[in-house]
Parts: sequence; structure tokens; C-alpha cells
Amino acid sequence: MSTKEYDFLIVGSGLFGSVFAYEANKIGKKCLVIDSRKNLGGNVYCEKMEDITVHKYGPHIFHTNDKKIWDYVNQFVSFNNYIHTPVSNSNGNLYNLPFNMNTFKQLWGVESPEKAIEIINNQINEFGFKNPKNLEQQALSLVGKDLYLLLIKQFTEKQWGRKAENLPASIIKRLPVRFTFDNNYFNDKYQGIPIGGYNKLIEGLLKGIEVKTNCNFFDDRAYFETISDCIVFTGKIDEYYNFKYGKLEYRSLRFETELLDVKDFQSNAMVNYNDANIPYTRIIEHKHFEFGEQPTTIITKEFPEEWSTKKEAFYPINDEKNNSSYLKYKKLSKNSNVIFGGRLAEYKYYDMHQVIASALNKFKKKNAL
Ligand code: UDP
Repeated sequence: MSTKEYDFLIVGSGLFGSVFAYEANKIGKKCLVIDSRKNLGGNVYCEKMEDITVHKYGPHIFHTNDKKIWDYVNQFVSFNNYIHTPVSNSNGNLYNLPFNMNTFKQLWGVESPEKAIEIINNQINEFGFKNPKNLEQQALSLVGKDLYLLLIKQFTEKQWGRKAENLPASIIKRLPVRFTFDNNYFNDKYQGIPIGGYNKLIEGLLKGIEVKTNCNFFDDRAYFETISDCIVFTGKIDEYYNFKYGKLEYRSLRFETELLDVKDFQSNAMVNYNDANIPYTRIIEHKHFEFGEQPTTIITKEFPEEWSTKKEAFYPINDEKNNSSYLKYKKLSKNSNVIFGGRLAEYKYYDMHQVIASALNKFKKKNAL
């Protein structure tokens, strides 16, 4: 029996923290969830504007191949049948993503998969990278030079603020390449947007659990370290350890949201802007996630920025240097009674379904002890 006020103090109310809290609460553990922001839900937080659900911290499209994870989220909220089909603007022309027969037709005028495969294979063989060591080599060995130069290189260097040859290959492995006329950005079996927004999911997970917003762990660390048997930390792991092994790098984003007095601005939820001279990477038109018929529309431009204190960290930069520092922090965390989870604490470019799986696994592991 615990002598402390809480069994778990959960720092951060994003998907990891909320799933962990739900599971703990379900078996009668007393939890406190704190979040430094004024809202719950971390980066899946949405806000209604002009009756449109706005993804405040960037577009979130739920997708998974795992029926268990799909059923898990569907306990709390129903999902619509939105399928993500972004397009990319490169030098004033629009191309379908991910790379598929529509893209190949737009680029080379080819209509048969054999022809497209032949062109791509010729370009791949030109370089012949057997073991791609960085994003540039990975992209060239996945789709060849034309697509790399047209839709990847400038976008990637703008998004990450680094040369493609200095970025990890893993980033681009996320993108499918297929030889059918299929614009679905994901290969997963299940996909959609929660009807009514992600807040419903978070509210369902945190129902009946004590939460405190505007509450920063680091403002009163000494106190927070005394109130529970176990801390679940979902912030930046390097900050938790006072940057003992140096600072990990993150990429941040700045969002510019506008209300436009038109019914439909771009006919699609997401349009990427490839060119280096355009400072944003994409424009999101939120109503299209929910097939909205509202008379006006809300768009958000996404500007990538280097992370610094006071900015939000959105993406870990998993290059060799950062990954090796992260491993030192990870080793340290093994000897502590703190559970680290989520994109920032595990320093992984996770999607939502992977964060949920990680929270369920870590909860199970903790409980088996
Ligand atoms: N990417 C690209 N061109 C695009 C879209 C994506 O080169 O039009 C690359 C880029 O390096 C990006 C990565 O693919 O960082 C992953 O893209 P994704 O859309 O999965 O990024 P997220 O939505 O997680 O920001």
C-alpha cells in the first residue's frame, strides 16, 4: 500500500500520458496528470473555429494496421472514413503523393506500371546505393533522381533545416511508393479522423482522473518528485536529466492560421509546398478532414523552425550524434523509477498508433513487476 498521495504522477497529457493514465485508473491506481499547457491532449489538441475542428498543433491523421489499437481508440470516439491524399506543389505544378502512378503520369506521362518501373529502376541503378546511409541516398535508391529533385530534396531540407545527406535515411522510409493509381498516403488497414475531434478521445481517456493544466513539472520539481510512487514522464528526456549528456536537437514548427471568406480554398486537407523559396512546408485546410460544408474555411500554414527553449519541440532529429546521446539518457533511465514515454521522452519519430502501443506496453511491463 502506497504512503504517497498518488500511485502515478503523469507529466504530460498527450496520447502517451492519457493512455497510461486510463489504464492505471482502470485498475484502481490513483493518478495525477499535469500539463504545462492550458489544454489537455498535447499535440492532438483541437479547437473549434467557425464550427470547424482545427488541429492546433499540426494535422493528425490516425492510421494503424493493428486491429487492437484501432478498437482501443474506437472505444472512446468514432472515426470517419477520411483517407489522406495530399498533393505537393513543386514549381507551380501539382503532383499526387505518395509516389504512385498518378505522380509518374504527371511527371513522365507514363500510364503503365512497367514503364514507370523501368524509368525508376534505371534511375536507381545510376547510383546503386546498396546500403543507403542518409536520407539523400535512401530517396535516390527508392525513387531515383527526378522525384528526389522535384518533390523531396527541397521539402526535406526546409522541413529539417539540414542537408538531406546529413539526415537519417529512416525519415523517408515512412513514404510509400506504389505502382497503382492509388493516392492513399498510408498503407495501413485502418484510417480516419475522430468525429468531433481528438479532444473527445482525450476526454474519454482522462474521464474521472485528476488533471492540472498550466502546471509545469520543472517549476516545482522537488515537490512533484515526492507525491507519487512512480513518475511517468513524457517531456524531453534530456531536460529531465538536466542535459547531463548534452542537449538533444529537436525541430519546431510555427503555425499561421487564417480564416478565409471562401467555402473551399484548396479542395484538399493538405497541400505541400516543395520549393525552398516558399517558407512554409504545407497548408492545411482543416474542414476537409471532416468533409465540412461550412460557408467559410480555416487554413494553417506550417513553418519549420529550429527548436530553442520556449518553443515547442515537435520532431526528434534522429541523426547519429543525437541518437548516441539519447542512448546514454536511456541507459540512465533504466536505473530509475521513472517511466519515459512518447515522442520526446523516447526520442522517436512516432506516429499516434505507435505512441499508444508504447504506452500500453510500458504500462503492462510496469504492472507485471
Ligand atoms: N517528404 C518529402 N516531400 C513531401 C512529403 C514528405 O520529401 O512532399 C519527406 C520529408 O523528408 C518529410 C518526410 O518525408 O520529413 C516525412 O513526411 P511526413 O508527411 O510523414 O511528415 P509528418 O506529417 O510527420 O510531418
